[in-house]
Amino acid sequence: AKPAVGFIGLGNMGKHMARNLLRAGYPVIVNDVNEAPVRDLASEGARPAATPRAVAEQARNIVTMLPSNPHVKGVYYNAGGIFEALQKDSLLIDASTIDPSISRAIAKDVVAKNLASAFIDAPVSGGVGGAEKGTLTFMVGGEKSAFDRAQPLLQAMGKNIVYCGAAGNGQVAKLCNNLLLAISMAGTSEVMNLGVTMGLDPKLLAGIINTSSGRCWSSEVYNPFPGVIEGVPSSRDYNGGFGSKLMLKDVNLALDAAKGANAPTPMGSRAKEIYDTVTADAQLSEKDFSVVLRYLQQLTRR
Ligand code: NAD
Repeated sequence: AKPAVGFIGLGNMGKHMARNLLRAGYPVIVNDVNEAPVRDLASEGARPAATPRAVAEQARNIVTMLPSNPHVKGVYYNAGGIFEALQKDSLLIDASTIDPSISRAIAKDVVAKNLASAFIDAPVSGGVGGAEKGTLTFMVGGEKSAFDRAQPLLQAMGKNIVYCGAAGNGQVAKLCNNLLLAISMAGTSEVMNLGVTMGLDPKLLAGIINTSSGRCWSSEVYNPFPGVIEGVPSSRDYNGGFGSKLMLKDVNLALDAAKGANAPTPMGSRAKEIYDTVTADAQLSEKDFSVVLRYLQQLTRR
């Protein structure tokens, strides 16, 4: 029989990931501060646990999928947390996107317990759709032996499982990608608005860019100009997709990490200013992060 897997954090991503573990035949022990997804997963065969501590009492493999730094720290270190009941030979997988220095600190504290247990950071890309379909990309940092041991679990939830090196390196890879995405989306929005304001047809401009050197994921797959690509958030009033607030969270994590590493981020800093402004605007803050195009349209004097 397959070993029990604990799953803490059954939000937009986690509920699908936990379900995929169930479908792969793992007994799954679930916990969330929100009762609704716990009930849903329980009706599909998962066993609820009242606290992260109770999860650790029942499972040596534990996945966490939580919003950000304070939630992950709390689930590990608070009263009722994982560390109160960590078992020998445990494998702890944090798939949340958080500060790499926190991942490194938890990995160190797990080793210090002398239980032959290991922690890996395994943030994901692929969004809610990838979580649902089980096609996520995992970027993994930690001991290679722990990465190898995690393979079957990660394969049940994802498709591309990439080993990035030491603890925290999965987070570094994730933050670098998302910082570039924030910058490329802002840049794509800037030129799409510029070209259309100066008289070009948006589809024609996108077509030129996408067969030329300006091409990027933001222009080709997720164009921010409404109507250029069907089925993306910009073509449905910027609803659904990857929220501006989540993008700002990742940009801030990346810039904090960059400061710690003394690496300059001039473009990232501009992207942060843009997403600060967008998320402070009640009309834009709940929209997909490609809504930066609409923000620039509003600034355009006609
Ligand atoms: P979410 O807010 O939908 O889900 C988080 C869940 O954690 C919620 O159900 C919440 O109730 C639960 N939670 C919070 N504190 C808790 C605690 N102390 N104990 C137990 N449960 C607790 O977030 P999400 O969209 O599922 O994202 C999770 C992580 O994945 C984030 O770090 C996010 O940046 C990252 N991520 C998200 C996406 C995406 O498209 N949504 C894509 C890639 C990565």
